[in-house]
Amino acid sequence: MTDCQHCHKPTKQASANMLCANCREDYWTMIYQLGHVQLPTLRSIMLRQAHIGTPAHTPNKGNAPLPIDVHAQDLIEESEAWLAEQAGKIRAAYAGYDWRKAWYAIISNKHTILTMSTAADDYAALEHITRRNEQALTPEDELIILGTCPNCHSMLTGTPDAESVTCQDCHSEWAAPAIKAARDQRLWQVQITGTPSDAAKELKRYGLTISRNLISQWLKRGKLHATPTEHKRQYTFNLGELAALLDCHR
Ligand SMILES: [Zn+2]
Ligand SMILES: [Zn+2]
Repeated sequence: MTDCQHCHKPTKQASANMLCANCREDYWTMIYQLGHVQLPTLRSIMLRQAHIGTPAHTPNKGNAPLPIDVHAQDLIEESEAWLAEQAGKIRAAYAGYDWRKAWYAIISNKHTILTMSTAADDYAALEHITRRNEQALTPEDELIILGTCPNCHSMLTGTPDAESVTCQDCHSEWAAPAIKAARDQRLWQVQITGTPSDAAKELKRYGLTISRNLISQWLKRGKLHATPTEHKRQYTFNLGELAALLDCHR
């Protein structure tokens, strides 16, 4: 028994590259998706000369988030470079193929790709590329604010169930749960003035789902210490308190 070089679980497979059966399957699906879905989509976006991602809107108070600024061209180049590199490992001459031919070469050499001595590293590199592509191809309203990059303080966004996150600015990689925990701590410093519905919408940007009715109920029962304003139904909410109450409620 040895450990899979990717998921680090014990595996019985005696192959040279040490990827377990599950990881091989996931790796292969990822390769397939890259050439079948992601690259064609990114290229059609580039042809329309559209930039991916619109600037995120600014919350009422607190840090103004940086716009999501990932360009299709960047992602395409990275994806194509990965394909060219793998194709070149099958046969040196394949390295000069365009991306589609390179992808076909890879798809028709499954065994070679999956048992390559560099498979674990190649898989890790592809995961990174795929995650960036996925994020760029996810509509902005499905992305949430995961937190702030500890290295360069840029805003980190991702899908709600992301396990890790890559900073678009400094390219460092972080574990999503730790980034979110730090974010929830910082929410105590963020106040928002508005109706319960505004507060619910703001929390949704952080992937925290709460109904405006529940917020109103908490206000009525005195569970929530929001400060009333001179405007009807408008309060100053502390997002940290809301997040903490929501956590207890679940
Ligand atoms: Zn594995
Ligand atoms: Zn960063």
